[in-house]
Amino acid sequence: MKKLLLAAMCALLVSWKPPIDLGKVAKAKKGAELVAGASHKINEEEEYHIGRAVAANILGQYPLWKNGELTRYLNLIGRILALRSGRPEIYGGYHFAMLDAPEANAFSAPGGIIFLTRGIVAMAADEDELAAVLAHEIQHIVVKDPLKAIRSQRLKALGTFTAGEAVGSSSGAFGVFQDSIMDISGTLLQKGYSRGQEKDADLGALKLLAAAGYDPGALLDMLKKIQAVEKKKLKAFSAHPSAAKRIAYVGGNVAAADPALRRARAARFEKFAAGR
Ligand SMILES: [Zn+2]
Repeated sequence: MKKLLLAAMCALLVSWKPPIDLGKVAKAKKGAELVAGASHKINEEEEYHIGRAVAANILGQYPLWKNGELTRYLNLIGRILALRSGRPEIYGGYHFAMLDAPEANAFSAPGGIIFLTRGIVAMAADEDELAAVLAHEIQHIVVKDPLKAIRSQRLKALGTFTAGEAVGSSSGAFGVFQDSIMDISGTLLQKGYSRGQEKDADLGALKLLAAAGYDPGALLDMLKKIQAVEKKKLKAFSAHPSAAKRIAYVGGNVAAADPALRRARAARFEKFAAGR
């Protein structure tokens, strides 16, 4: 009986034909994967070029704050953190720059270009607080949050985009590239990331600060200052969730750190940050 059933099944398998075109299914699946995993389909070099264009867009709205000493200091702290992050190496390297804007804010463009406004730099009372802002932005780069802002309908076309095509052509690839820059810029400057993405960036920043030898409590200190500014109804981190919400989940996750080590970095901070 068993043998008979097996024979019947084999016959069924031999005569069975897929009711749908498997080739089409594979194609559709590939398209869906491109849409779902957009950030994974854009390679490091493409991310770098997109990031440069997004950075140029940000610089079209905020002038660069040219303070060489402080910029070098910021890059020193940023690179210490990036090396301890989940993405220590990136095509073109990490770059940290300052924007001449009074409001407190920070942006991370794809490819590792991070901007801090003059307002947020002035808010930091020591190196650990500056590091806290940088760590949050680095976390957005680690998980490629800026690239996730690209609208899904652009992704398929972007999947075939190459840097050479974008530079040398005014055809479709360039148009899609430009639209993607606008998607990312809109998210960075106005819309903001989801609450989940922001929470992950904050919690990741706590771990990153601890791994790099900084006091994770500095993030909480910065959030309290941002909350005080928000209470005065001034513009601060407009594209982020409210400081009160962030304090609630960050507060419960701060690991203890040696206050003496944080104080030891004060002299270095004073030297470089005096010209803020
Ligand atoms: Zn953020």
